[in-house]
Amino acid sequence: MNEQLLEKYARIAVKVGVNLQKGQPLIVNAPIGASDFVRAITKVAYECGASIVRAEYHDDLQTKLRYTHSDESYLEYFPDWRAKYMENFAADGAAVISVLAPNPDLMADVEPSKLSKANKATAKAIQPYREIVNKGGVSWLGIAVPSPEWAKKVYPELSEEDGINALWENILKITRADQDDPIKAWEDHVTILQGKVDYLNDLNIDHLIFEAPGTDLKVKLPKGYVWEGGGSVNTKNDAYFVPNIPTEEVFTMPHRLGVDGTLASTMPLSYNGVLIDEFSFTFESGKIVDFTAKQGYETLKGLLETDEGSMYLGEVALVPVTSPIYQSKKVFFNTLYDENATCHFAIGRAYPSTIEDGIHKSIAQLKEAGANFSVVHVDFMVGGDSLDVKAVTEDGRTVELMKDGDWV
Ligand code: ZN
Ligand code: ZN
Repeated sequence: MNEQLLEKYARIAVKVGVNLQKGQPLIVNAPIGASDFVRAITKVAYECGASIVRAEYHDDLQTKLRYTHSDESYLEYFPDWRAKYMENFAADGAAVISVLAPNPDLMADVEPSKLSKANKATAKAIQPYREIVNKGGVSWLGIAVPSPEWAKKVYPELSEEDGINALWENILKITRADQDDPIKAWEDHVTILQGKVDYLNDLNIDHLIFEAPGTDLKVKLPKGYVWEGGGSVNTKNDAYFVPNIPTEEVFTMPHRLGVDGTLASTMPLSYNGVLIDEFSFTFESGKIVDFTAKQGYETLKGLLETDEGSMYLGEVALVPVTSPIYQSKKVFFNTLYDENATCHFAIGRAYPSTIEDGIHKSIAQLKEAGANFSVVHVDFMVGGDSLDVKAVTEDGRTVELMKDGDWV
């Protein structure tokens, strides 16, 4: 990997992604294979005045050994000291970059019930940390680098080396890192997303209508809905950060109890290393009352049965087919990329920031206002060039938002 390009990519992570401020600590979560990129991030971060950069390395294969060899009862053990560590660095104002090197099929042969057990325990243990994040007090970022397994999945026809190179090329293009001035390109992009957000927030939408093959869905928005896109302002240090690189979406929350009709996926979903494909849902008053899946049915079932809220939706997002990810005509088998290819929904938790004053509301108040709550938040894709989206406003007007997958 070309060192200059890697540094440009690292600059996007530090300056656009978490927008690191002078004197701020930085935590970098990364797989062991991403050490070159972590070093590039570290260099840029210290140049930007980081007080300390701490790399937290993990190894997916070592994680997998726990599922295959540990006594099952211990899978629910999440050490308190680990949760406290996260709470403490968040309270200390640290920024957090999570580098992903996806391995889409890693957990395919692990029992889904084991994964959901451990995930549930993790989600519960780190809830206090999540609260700080949800209240906007942590500048965080998810950004990806190729892994050999990911490259093989996206480019099965290429050799490992060619696949990794091809994936890098795509990543750098999609994230604008290959442009002369990536920081300026991101400023322009975020401004466009903000324009959509402002338009939708002023529209007084009562509900949205999604129509596509297999999809006929009415999605009520709660009173005081807030669309977001691009990034948001850290409530502690007032710095604007962009938590997903890439990001092409504008999103809000559906009313927990206001979703009715059918909804069909248009892309596979990689969940816990298992692929779920060609799935669909039937909703009644917000609840999933029926579902199908050609592949990964048991995993989908496990996900939906996580808790009460995992039977409801927490996010609705609009992404035009002009997105560079959709244009790449590739399925990336990874949510960070695929969710920014096309329109999507999320099963589970709603972002409190997507309803008026939500970050100051308790869970009970959020639920009362129509927000869904769950320990999971899993995006799945429903968009494509045959999707139409309309908004029906509170005063009864119908406004076409998307036609054939693109903004009207
Ligand atoms: Zn989304
Ligand atoms: Zn989401």
